[in-house]
Amino acid sequence: IGGSVDKDATLAVKVALNIRPLIGLERLQGCKDCITVVAGEPQVQIGSHSFTFDHVYGSTGAPMSVIFEECVAPLVEGLFQGYNATVLAYGQTGSGKTYTMGTGYTVGGSTEGVIPKVMETIFQRVETLKQKADFQIRVSFIEILKEEVHDLLDPTPPATVKADLTNAAGFGSGSTKAMTSGKPPIQIRETTNGGITLAGVTETDVTSQAEMALCLEQGSLCRATGSTMMNTRSSRSHAIFTITLEQRRKWEMPMDGGSMMLEDAGEDYLCAKLHLVDLAGSERAKRTGADGVRFKEGVHINKGLLALGNVISALGDEKKRKEGGHVPYRDSKLTRLLQDSLGGNSRTVMIACVSPADSNAEETLNTLKYANRAR
Ligand code: ADP
Ligand code: MG
Repeated sequence: IGGSVDKDATLAVKVALNIRPLIGLERLQGCKDCITVVAGEPQVQIGSHSFTFDHVYGSTGAPMSVIFEECVAPLVEGLFQGYNATVLAYGQTGSGKTYTMGTGYTVGGSTEGVIPKVMETIFQRVETLKQKADFQIRVSFIEILKEEVHDLLDPTPPATVKADLTNAAGFGSGSTKAMTSGKPPIQIRETTNGGITLAGVTETDVTSQAEMALCLEQGSLCRATGSTMMNTRSSRSHAIFTITLEQRRKWEMPMDGGSMMLEDAGEDYLCAKLHLVDLAGSERAKRTGADGVRFKEGVHINKGLLALGNVISALGDEKKRKEGGHVPYRDSKLTRLLQDSLGGNSRTVMIACVSPADSNAEETLNTLKYANRAR
């Protein structure tokens, strides 16, 4: 594999804290800033608690370009060297996960956010390398809601929903035909060499930044309109935008007909994927509403976030890793899906998002503790 990525950098999970500015409503309510960033250190204080991370982006609002350069650009570079990678945005609803990742993207809208920057960088890089290799780029965009994987690039309703609609409209009897005519649910499969694939997911081939941006927009809209109350669905589900990059090296015969130069030898074929994850809101189930249905969803969400916390903490445990200790990937759909892109040779960055408002102090402290465990 071409290029060497230093081992330490690939093993650890990096954690960045992103403190958004106070927003309109918080200002109106007279909220005060309750987090202090220690000058010149990636360290914060809240009450009597102190936390240190790999990076801290303070509430004066670090430009997204700085966050991208420091946290995400190295992962994009790794993608071209064949390394899988994952960027995770964690935090309570309203803390800035979607803003940070750019998962609320609309064409012609803001190009802030990690994903728009990733798209730009990938196609710039492809442009400089296209003499040497052929590139094939695919994207998928899925959502995990209640431990089920939904395809955001294929808005066909699942089979069961169709059957319900048939009944409600008084047509037919929800026949077995209606039950089986929808798209089968997406299954997570493990390949013989340990890779993870999603059986039945839409993978769109893209040849330009504009085409990729359309996929991002389409999936973002699908996610928003899938819910009656716009913010509820996105706060309960994990959204995962995945870019797969394949490269096939071009071998050119030397002009003089002599033997091929091997000094530049590397792999002929490389394939790697980058997962960009806008996680479900980390707030406690009790705060998302007490009615039974919502509570059950809350439990499922916590299952993914809980499993993720355990996986990342196991990966960070050097002793466990050296002894080939157990990493509990199988405990949730989220961690199963990310299994081949968390740990091992892959690089992972978690961006913990928080509000600086004193009214959110309790959830902010929870987020800081969760993120701290990941280091
Ligand atoms: P989440 O996805 O975590 O629920 P959002 O990304 O929707 O949160 O952000 C909540 C609100 O805060 C939005 O109105 C968003 O525009 C605003 N916001 C988030 N991060 C920033 C930031 N860095 N600068 C300015 N506004 C922000
Ligand atoms: Mg959001």
